[in-house]
Amino acid sequence: MKNFGLDIWSNQNFIIEDGQIKLNYKCMPSILDITQKIRSNGVRGPMLLRFPHLIKRQISTLYSYFDKAIKDNSYEGTFNAVFPLKVNQFPHAVEAITSQGKKFNYGLEAGSKAELILAMSQTNLGAHITVNGFKDREMIILGFIAAQSGHNLTLTIEGLGELKTIIEVAKECDLKIPNIGIRVRLHSAGSGIWAKSGGMDAKFGLTATEIIEAVTLLSKEDMLNNLTMVHFHIGSQMSDIAPLKRALREAGNIYAELRMMGAKELNNINIGGGLAVEYDQHTHSTSRNYSIDEFSSSVVFLLGEIMNAKKVKHPNIFTESGRFIVASHAVLITPVLELFSQDYQEKLLNFKEVNPPILQELIELNNLLSNQNCIEYLHDALDHMESLLTLFDLGYIDLQDRSNAEILVHNIIKKSLYLKSGNPTDELEQLQVKLQERYLINASIFQSLPDYWGLKQHFPVMPIHHLNSTPLRAASLWDITCDSDGEIGFNPDKPLYLHDINLDEEEYFLGFFNVGAYQEALGMNHNLFTHPNEYTIKIDDDKYSITNEVESKNILDILESIGYNKKNILEKLKNDLLISDFITEKEKNDTLAKLETFVEQNGYLRTTN
Ligand SMILES: *Cc1c(COP(=O)(O)O)cnc(C)c1O
Repeated sequence: MKNFGLDIWSNQNFIIEDGQIKLNYKCMPSILDITQKIRSNGVRGPMLLRFPHLIKRQISTLYSYFDKAIKDNSYEGTFNAVFPLKVNQFPHAVEAITSQGKKFNYGLEAGSKAELILAMSQTNLGAHITVNGFKDREMIILGFIAAQSGHNLTLTIEGLGELKTIIEVAKECDLKIPNIGIRVRLHSAGSGIWAKSGGMDAKFGLTATEIIEAVTLLSKEDMLNNLTMVHFHIGSQMSDIAPLKRALREAGNIYAELRMMGAKELNNINIGGGLAVEYDQHTHSTSRNYSIDEFSSSVVFLLGEIMNAKKVKHPNIFTESGRFIVASHAVLITPVLELFSQDYQEKLLNFKEVNPPILQELIELNNLLSNQNCIEYLHDALDHMESLLTLFDLGYIDLQDRSNAEILVHNIIKKSLYLKSGNPTDELEQLQVKLQERYLINASIFQSLPDYWGLKQHFPVMPIHHLNSTPLRAASLWDITCDSDGEIGFNPDKPLYLHDINLDEEEYFLGFFNVGAYQEALGMNHNLFTHPNEYTIKIDDDKYSITNEVESKNILDILESIGYNKKNILEKLKNDLLISDFITEKEKNDTLAKLETFVEQNGYLRTTN
């Protein structure tokens, strides 16, 4: 894995220079420099860095490819995009999208009442708002209020019940009627681990029969002209483009039929999200089999072809890409607190004057190991280790002998791996699992990488410095929750190697990349670890600035957020201490002051300097 797969996942957003990873943009700051600047103010836990220029890059990329495809195909509709809020609702992410997207009139998509209120308050007036998901009467009235307030809003109906409510509300009040969209239930399904949004048994959308019924209902109420959009979404992180093409044919034909049935104002097809992001660090193109170029030209070409055949007006194209727009903009930085298998160092060997014969043999194997014999000696060593453990269980060998043997066998495996590093055998690769170093990271996987916990989604990870030297230690990553699921194990098929760092002398920081989509919204407060400190980094030609600090919740606030009274908690702690015996008044007061500082910090560890 050369350069941690940077050429695979980073899309040239980052480069390695002078042993550090740097932003490949304008004054090209190194992430280490940013990290240290923030830490110089006393910050110690994990940090989430946002780079708005990377959102801008994704937005411009999306538009430029679609604009090009529209030109190339003499397509007559326009291209439009909205950002689905569920992918990242956090203020500084949304702000980056609305500000960077302003010149494209970039809109927002809402899937719940809270997201709708957020969209109404954050969208630039006139930009599109699409509303998907199940809606009650109140949510539908909110849509009317938004339309009345000047928003360009489309309520996408997921079922006929919603349409009936829209018709009722329209009759009952004089508020402006929002645009109506129909989500179609496709018979073609998506692909990839998130593909549950398509297919006959899909959770969402209207069947062919229901669509016809919707048209009848709308016509009867003289509201057919409010129908403006056909919508589908086949699931996130599409790995394969074929299902999208099938979905486009299906939805395109539905659009054309609806227009021929008299829906004169039906002008838009919304193809949902699903555009994939490369998360892989080891091999190219395992996440998706298409490029953004192929994606945009397929969409435009297919829709044009269908409409030309049916002699129907080309629809405007809408996308709701979320992951593609924001994944790359956020990087999680985690300090490494400890390396956990340093106890297998040779200097800890402590032999007796007379060692048991089996240990003596291990000593010789270790001394005589060479490129020629290492596989054979390795097998012998592993064999001896088995026997030695049996002897230990039977009481023939003591703990010191066992410790010496473990260190020697680890050393033999390590040396063999090194000797054969150009051409390791399968067996050696598997043995790395035994040798893995456990890197304790000051972060919570549950909070910051929940898709790893829930779906084993891999995120690119690498040290942000020390990149001039080759990392050799097979690494697994442990977070600081006390949950055994808070671990990213070493996988011999997709190995991660990190540096051997003496943390008493140097710092070591890991960066997790492409974490800007879904992770923050899904993150959970397991063990009461909350959102890490976050910062927005604005990069100019000659300098960069660190803005929008949002601090991680302090301990009392975390407790209050789940329903405790923080005043009562602090009182109780203080009282218990005050009435305790055997310390001086001064020590009591000093301890009280300490206690007060502790509870006003966040819960991440503060062990590194
Ligand atoms: C989740 C969702 C999206 C976003 O999908 P991405 O894969 O993140 O682009 C778009 N539209 C709808 C309706 C969704 O539910």
